Amino acid sequence: MQVLYKSTRGKEELVTASTAILKGLSKDGGLFVPVTIPKLDVPMEKLAQMSYQETAYEVMSRFLTDFTEEELKDCINKAYDSKFDTEAIAPLHEANGIYFLELFHGATIAFKDMALSILPHLMTTAAKKNQVKNEIVILTATSGDTGKAALAGFADVSGTKIIVFYPKHGVSPIQEKQMVTQKGANTYVIGITGNFDDAQTAVKKMFNDKELAEELDQAGYQFSSANSINIGRLVPQIVYYVYAYAALVKEGKIKAGDKINVVVPTGNFGNILAAYYAKQMGLPVNRLICASNENKVLYDFFRTGVYDRKREFILTSSPSMDILISSNLERLIYRLTGENAEKCAELMQSLSNGGEYAITDEMKEKLSDFYGNYCSEGETREAISATYYGCDYVIDPHTAVAAGVYQKYVRETQDTETPAVIASTASPYKFTRSVMDAISDRYAGLDDFALADALEKLSGVKIPKAVEEIRTAPVLHDKVVDAPDMPAAVKEILGIQQA
Ligand SMILES: *Cc1c(COP(=O)(O)O)cnc(C)c1O
Repeated sequence: MQVLYKSTRGKEELVTASTAILKGLSKDGGLFVPVTIPKLDVPMEKLAQMSYQETAYEVMSRFLTDFTEEELKDCINKAYDSKFDTEAIAPLHEANGIYFLELFHGATIAFKDMALSILPHLMTTAAKKNQVKNEIVILTATSGDTGKAALAGFADVSGTKIIVFYPKHGVSPIQEKQMVTQKGANTYVIGITGNFDDAQTAVKKMFNDKELAEELDQAGYQFSSANSINIGRLVPQIVYYVYAYAALVKEGKIKAGDKINVVVPTGNFGNILAAYYAKQMGLPVNRLICASNENKVLYDFFRTGVYDRKREFILTSSPSMDILISSNLERLIYRLTGENAEKCAELMQSLSNGGEYAITDEMKEKLSDFYGNYCSEGETREAISATYYGCDYVIDPHTAVAAGVYQKYVRETQDTETPAVIASTASPYKFTRSVMDAISDRYAGLDDFALADALEKLSGVKIPKAVEEIRTAPVLHDKVVDAPDMPAAVKEILGIQQA
């Protein structure tokens, strides 16, 4: 069965999966969604015997129907290989009867690797299929994690270049070191003197600049996006929910058909939307538990039906969830409206004009698949320390937000029966400062690398290659520009004459 994609705002014609991946965002500003969500028509007993790569093929081939079997398997094998430090790719860790789904075993030790290690291959395959002759230039503004994962994914992928802009004074020292030491002849990393919003705004402006697109085209280039609104990032994320469920069946922890709860630390709503799609495919999921930090827009939305971004932006210890506009929520809103693109566009317009929108009671009723709650900074620290002292397992602050929210869910609903899978989105080695401070105050004076050594002793988990590598790696990127000069920097990289 052919699956085509349409825009949540209804103004674009149906496109194939490969076209949706190449375009990233629809011209009308909406996001691409599958016209129908395919069923998971493989028996669970069979899935339980499959490797991660085989599971990925079963799930992704149902969505990316214009990719041939050979093309898709080739993408999968290039993505999920020895870049991951475990053959399981996404292993489950049981702690006190809760299953932590570790999504941080890839090149940059955060869950972004799950999708960004395959997106470059999907994109170059899509370019070939659609006779795109231009080289693809990925433009990304990052507040830390996405930039590094995209760099690692696209490094030395032929037919692509990747340019990442980051706020020079707005990322953690480890995050900056990870990016500026990036190897690969096609990678470019540039600091900007402004903040993340300045970088993001300038990048969006370049995407919409028709004159620039024309100049690029003449030089043999075109822009594309590695942002989480790309359907090519969403589909690979459905895989690990199916894989985790099948693993629980295989290990005899559940019987095929039993329901599980899924808990996801949420920012842009991409990861939890993938879990929702897995449920729509037929995976037996009870509740999708949406965990927020102190930027609790989503919690308020689930309680009241009003999405209101007009509030203070809070910097927390889980920075990848510090977000007030969860872009991927639009895909859920679209479904809640009964796939009414006009209504969806109206709500999104109201968000960008007035900073808020309210859904109807009828739409709110359809939200019963979800449970939302949040953790304060204190509760997050408490979850790290409780998991360490209670289960001898060290979790990062993002995962800790999910663990804390899960406890609140159990207390509120008394649902102690349904097994729970917590999406564990980052290695504690990426956030050693917050993690070690939560466990004890005796680490306060240590620098970032000394903290990693201390964490290794404490947890018995070896320091990942991603951290070991940057200790001594030479800095390869040191360019810094002002935000208004970003287009000039891009042209210089691409060898386009400045007017
Ligand atoms: C990006 C990220 C998240 C949030 O995921 P969304 O798909 O944006 O909701 C959570 N944790 C970590 C570590 C991340 O990098």
